Amino acid sequence: MTTKNEIDTLKKLAKRYARANRIAQHEALNAMAVALDFPHWAHLAAKVKQGWLPTAEQLANAEALVHQTHPGADGTENFIDNGFSRPVDDPIRQGKIGDHAYRVFEAFGDIRMEGEGWRILLGEAQFSQPLVEIEKPHADSSPVRKQDFLKSALAIADEEAAKVRAGIASDWPRRSTKPDAEGLVLHPLFGGKSAEWYCLHCDGKITGAQLAENLWHCPSCGASPVDIFSKAAWLDDSDVTVKPVQSRVVRQRPQPEVKVVDSRPTLTLNEKSVSLLLRTALLEDATTPAERIGAQLAEIYVDDEGDACIVLDEDLWPDSKEPEAAIAVAELLGSELDISVTCMTFPFAWPDLGHATTSTREYVRMLLEAHEEQGVIHRKNEDD
Ligand SMILES: [Zn+2]
Repeated sequence: MTTKNEIDTLKKLAKRYARANRIAQHEALNAMAVALDFPHWAHLAAKVKQGWLPTAEQLANAEALVHQTHPGADGTENFIDNGFSRPVDDPIRQGKIGDHAYRVFEAFGDIRMEGEGWRILLGEAQFSQPLVEIEKPHADSSPVRKQDFLKSALAIADEEAAKVRAGIASDWPRRSTKPDAEGLVLHPLFGGKSAEWYCLHCDGKITGAQLAENLWHCPSCGASPVDIFSKAAWLDDSDVTVKPVQSRVVRQRPQPEVKVVDSRPTLTLNEKSVSLLLRTALLEDATTPAERIGAQLAEIYVDDEGDACIVLDEDLWPDSKEPEAAIAVAELLGSELDISVTCMTFPFAWPDLGHATTSTREYVRMLLEAHEEQGVIHRKNEDD
């Protein structure tokens, strides 16, 4: 290996490091120099002129530094494509904090870290606020209630989020994460360069530098890169005035929001669900076509206490017939059930035909024949 080759290798590594970490090339060169025990790059460069060369071990250290940021930073791996092809239930990392097992998942750039009865959600954008969710049955006993545990868990989530950001930045064009001297940045998904951008979501005006720093998420509302445009064309005919959005004053990840959630399957017994179950039971009780029509047209009321009242049509539901299933379902649900009968308008002529058979097919045949002989049949839209 010639001198030039070894120094070129270091410069190439610095370039990948700069891209993954969204920093300037000179900052990356300094980071390489520090990894090789120099105070900064200028010092290293001066030593090179005096004949200094990195050892194989030092080069390996520099390479490890870049890989630590983003394993695919050498350009052989596409982070975003890898993310898409990974099965959703494949963790990117798993382990234990004390006795508590955890798994970390990545989906569309967002991080989800979870253990028994808790999860931490962390967005792709820089400085996004972590959301800590605790399942209700674990509300008081969850380990994330303990500051030490939460701190360790967040450190792991932050580490994985940093790798995700490095992966995305490595995939995107360099100009998307590093403004030029005029502050111009390139949209990572749609292309197009500008120093000023607009958020479709909150109508905010954003500088290229703000977007580059925030991985193209709106610093104001958190909208994703697909909502960021160089022209606010949607505001052309409106009197909305766009306001520049403010970046966070404190440049660090905010404290997490902790929430108790209940994602267990929940059976809500309200008017809608109770009456649906009662009607289903009524249909089970119905034997003849008339009774089945009666079950569908029955008026079912459920009051605030959950007690129910079913009003049946005397022509469709025989007075003597006890709706056993409906009564049993009401009992299971703890509803007091009141059944009454009223006179409604029978939907078809010859009400008795509806009780003459248990077969709907037979009933419809009889209805058609009776009307063909002694009445008239209107087909849909015939009169229109
Ligand atoms: Zn916005």
